[in-house]
Amino acid sequence: METSATPTHCPYCALQCGMNLTPAPDGTVEVTERADFPVNRGALCGKGRTAPAVLASSVRLTSPLVREGGVLVPATWDEALDRIAEGLSSIRSAHGPDALGVFGGGGLTNEKAYTLGKFARVVLGTSQIDYNGRFCMSSAAAAGIKAFGLDRGLPFPLEDIPKTGCVILVGSNLAETMPPALRYLTELKDNGGTLIVIDPRRTRTAEQADLHLAPRPGTDLALALGLLHLVVAEGRADEEYIRERTTGWEDARAAAMAHWPEYVERITGVSVPQLREALRLFCEPEAAMVLTARGPEQQSKGTDTVGAWINLCLATGRAGRPLSGYGCLTGQGNGQGGREHGQKADQLPGYRKLNDPAARRHVAEVWGVDPDSLPGPGRSAYELLDALGTDIKSLLLMGSNPVVSAPRAAHVEERIKSLDFLAVCDVVLSETAALADVVLPVTQWAEETGTTTNLEGRVLLRRQAITPPEGVRSDLEVMHELAARLGVEKGFPTDPEEVFEELRRASAGGPADYSGITYRRLAEENGVFWPCPTPSEEAAGAVGAGTEEAALDVPHNPPHDDGTPSVHPGTPRLFLDRFATDDGRARFVPVLHRAVAEEPDAEYPVLLTTGRVVAQYQSGAQTRRVDELNAAAPGPFVELHPRLAERLGAAEGDPVAVVSRRGRAVAPARITTSIRPDTVFMPFHWPGEGRANTLTNPALDPTSRMPEFKACAVRVEAVEAV
Ligand code: SF4
Repeated sequence: METSATPTHCPYCALQCGMNLTPAPDGTVEVTERADFPVNRGALCGKGRTAPAVLASSVRLTSPLVREGGVLVPATWDEALDRIAEGLSSIRSAHGPDALGVFGGGGLTNEKAYTLGKFARVVLGTSQIDYNGRFCMSSAAAAGIKAFGLDRGLPFPLEDIPKTGCVILVGSNLAETMPPALRYLTELKDNGGTLIVIDPRRTRTAEQADLHLAPRPGTDLALALGLLHLVVAEGRADEEYIRERTTGWEDARAAAMAHWPEYVERITGVSVPQLREALRLFCEPEAAMVLTARGPEQQSKGTDTVGAWINLCLATGRAGRPLSGYGCLTGQGNGQGGREHGQKADQLPGYRKLNDPAARRHVAEVWGVDPDSLPGPGRSAYELLDALGTDIKSLLLMGSNPVVSAPRAAHVEERIKSLDFLAVCDVVLSETAALADVVLPVTQWAEETGTTTNLEGRVLLRRQAITPPEGVRSDLEVMHELAARLGVEKGFPTDPEEVFEELRRASAGGPADYSGITYRRLAEENGVFWPCPTPSEEAAGAVGAGTEEAALDVPHNPPHDDGTPSVHPGTPRLFLDRFATDDGRARFVPVLHRAVAEEPDAEYPVLLTTGRVVAQYQSGAQTRRVDELNAAAPGPFVELHPRLAERLGAAEGDPVAVVSRRGRAVAPARITTSIRPDTVFMPFHWPGEGRANTLTNPALDPTSRMPEFKACAVRVEAVEAV
């Protein structure tokens, strides 16, 4: 393996910051600045800087584990793989293929996500596959598809943000979740643009805002409707744009007009003058953007909430125009690519729908199977987890830790414990892996090559920089070995580039078309934005032929004589000419305010909202193993307003209990005026007594099946310190 610097990308969030990795003789790996990657221009947060610590962690798994007499003991790879194959086979024989569940993750590379979906449907024959990205941005994805006909987190590159006139950032704390991205907002302000942040908490991001609106959790939908009402009332609608580029305005307009600003003020707590000011700042510049993140999306009405913000963009002519638009700030490292290649319950590669006969035929042909043999859509992530131990008897889990990250986590933990068989692939013994019958130790980001797709839709090459430790294998090798043991000898290559070549063919012609992208292009061009179809019939034939040589030749034809490129350049900006709907017009979707699924009452009078801190990532399975990050963020806390603390008699650092209808969590109080008095906040990265997701409500959005992580009714109690 190389001892010089290898340019690659961070393993964590959807920014996918570029970094250089250099192995040192003592076995450590040095991270250095990689200034050529435009997204972060060398900047990294503490998570990215310390990511190599997990590679050499003392708790790194380097041997398969199997459960014997109730405890996990080391085993050979053959023993462990045989046991998984036997476990899955016997359950399938006894209960049918849908008794086999598969759960993936938004951190898996495109190649792994693609192979996992194929493995579930071709090898296991099960419909019961979904992934933790369902808990991330699925509401924004559903709303984007409804309105624009296509979901790509940001339909424009991040570099457009500083050039627009105003950004409304809804429910995003970029300063903590992806700090290098904060510079786009700083530059926006330096250029004279304005930043409006909408968040129940005065976060470090909100502190940067020209205007911070702090609505009650779960009322972002009403807030957007109030703004749309004012668009009409103040004559700010862009009638020409609405006429030429949209459909459905009349119904959306009528729905918004039912939301008088004073009514919205009562629901949200945001005053009418603040609403008017926000709208003025948004409408006065020539261009403006709305960016959402988990705040409005992780709600049982997340799709409608995002839809309302999209309606605001459409009514003011701020979508599909230069430097304007709606975008979602996807969270997980491959949250974008992870939802495009078939690990989602209702999707096939290329972002195709599983219940579309033409899509089934296309993908089945690439896979060399009968389209009728492919199962139909399965359950969404929470519904799948909730069914464990009932009709789903086994689970194969990759790249996820639902014991910490799923809503109503104590219940999910019990469901997992009730399984007949659980197999987990991970790099450390996560809280979920600790419950498994078999644990397979797998390679990490720097030890393998693969592609990810960042929040802009930019496909990236993550290069292998170091040799993996003895004893671990890649997830692709795991699926290859299991497929062979389950009777499928071909179609599960272990070489990531070979998988990518097949993914290209499977995605060709689909909404997320990667067919014009190759590893070579990714290396040479520092990423390519999808859609990137093959440029010509001839080229399509070459890709369809499926030989690596033919495929690699396609994008590397020299430019035509007139200088025009002979390959598709990729698509950094979407929708400038037309939206991805049948008629090319964006669709207004009429939506109405509705309350959170669980309103506070006498017994549970406060709202809990959950989120992240800068030094930890997701369930913390990796970052909780890094000393520097643990020192910065050692454990959970309950953020509460001084008035609430006074009522409890709690001082800073005192343990307090937060109790919901689903359980109880205890953590030290962090008292601050930056949160509303009717709301408490907990970060969700930790297991055990302070596990925030013990409390959260699995009420699901009817369209996206997103649980309501962002608002549930709780009571807060003082706890005697021991
Ligand atoms: Fe960049 Fe995100 Fe990694 Fe931090 S965690 S270095 S923001 S990709």
